[in-house]
Amino acid sequence: MKHSDIENMYRDMGISPEVISYSEEIWNSLKDRWEEIDALSEYNQLKVIKAMQKNHVSEACLLGTTGYGYNDLGRETLEKVYADIFHTQDALVRPQITCGTHALALALMSNLRPGDELLSPVGKPYDTLEEVIGIRPSKGSLKEYGISYRQVDLLSDGSFDFDGIRRAINEKTKLVTIQRSKGYQTRPTLSVKRIGELISFIKEIKPDVICMVDNCYGEFTETKEPSDVGADLVVGSLIKNPGGGLAPIGGYLAGKKECIENAAYRLTSPGLGKEVGASLQVLPSFYHGLFLAPSVTANALKSAIFAANLYEKLGFEVVPDGKESRHDIIQAVTFGNPEGVIAFCQGIQQAAPVDGHVTPEPWDMPGYDSPVIMAAGAFVSGSSIELSADGPIQPPYAVYFQGGLTWQHGKLGIMNTLQKLVEKEIIMKDFGRRNL
Ligand SMILES: *Cc1c(COP(=O)(O)O)cnc(C)c1O
Repeated sequence: MKHSDIENMYRDMGISPEVISYSEEIWNSLKDRWEEIDALSEYNQLKVIKAMQKNHVSEACLLGTTGYGYNDLGRETLEKVYADIFHTQDALVRPQITCGTHALALALMSNLRPGDELLSPVGKPYDTLEEVIGIRPSKGSLKEYGISYRQVDLLSDGSFDFDGIRRAINEKTKLVTIQRSKGYQTRPTLSVKRIGELISFIKEIKPDVICMVDNCYGEFTETKEPSDVGADLVVGSLIKNPGGGLAPIGGYLAGKKECIENAAYRLTSPGLGKEVGASLQVLPSFYHGLFLAPSVTANALKSAIFAANLYEKLGFEVVPDGKESRHDIIQAVTFGNPEGVIAFCQGIQQAAPVDGHVTPEPWDMPGYDSPVIMAAGAFVSGSSIELSADGPIQPPYAVYFQGGLTWQHGKLGIMNTLQKLVEKEIIMKDFGRRNL
């Protein structure tokens, strides 16, 4: 096939020759990065297959249960597979966990008791957790149950405030929550190595404190997970990385037996715990998605690296930058004005296989404290391992881009964002000549 055939396809899809040639130059300059990511996904693919084989995943595991869901072989085996991948004693992987926030809330509410204190040593947690914790008043928050909260911000250079953390740990501190990903902030994402250093420091001060990591968006972006460097509990969403784009719902917790037990008794009921919870028809997608997850995550990483390099060369602030190593799949690009955020999101939406014809607008989403624009033309509603972008309409007007089940789709999406920004004259038409 001739290269011009691909170019003609892009042109048919509304991308201008300038955007195509600029994008090709960026893409071709990144060959070394692609090799590095292919090696990462190869390693993680082997890790997943090994865990599936060790636990004798069989055809019978793909059948679901109904009703109480006693003796659900597929559910029990999948939880062992997760425990092996994360190198933990146990795991809870359930469709009854509705989303990432629910998984995190479950982990917190089940492992904290009235009078305990929760500490975040890495600054403000993800927006939706503010209501879980009670930073913003909310019905059913930890605060309502008499669980206090303390936060130590990162220092201005992004490093840990070790003195502040030492001072914040007290006799009430029961659980430390560490968010791996930047979420809706422009701080750097924490590498597994840095998380390990933080956990060692905390455990030296208070060995019995539970160290939990909000692992959302981080799974399979490195060869190690936070549970390999001392985390007692890692928590995430199945409509992000580990669901591989196929899981239609769900969340997971992997960690120490006691932490998982606490969570199971809270998710179902005291006395019942892990023994109930019918898997219905979701198990094939949980297994199949987990199998694909290392490769899907790699595609999302490639899409993010492409976006970083493309917008960095145009002069925008990007986090992480074009060269940095990656510890999650999120790419932030700061436009400095609402129009840039909106045009970017509309470009992503227009590249989608589902709902590519709709135009997203900012709206007041539950759980967020400013209007948010979200672009997602996803097979699974709201899935952000699929190509998606969102941006809160507030300074510094940064857009957060993530996902792409295939890098080909990610590449198209990013090319289309540039096309939209040029069409709306947010980026000038002679961008290629000025910046390369
Ligand atoms: C997505 C995310 C959450 C919340 O997950 P939802 O599925 O949207 O509820 C929490 N923390 C981080 C870092 C996330 O990226």
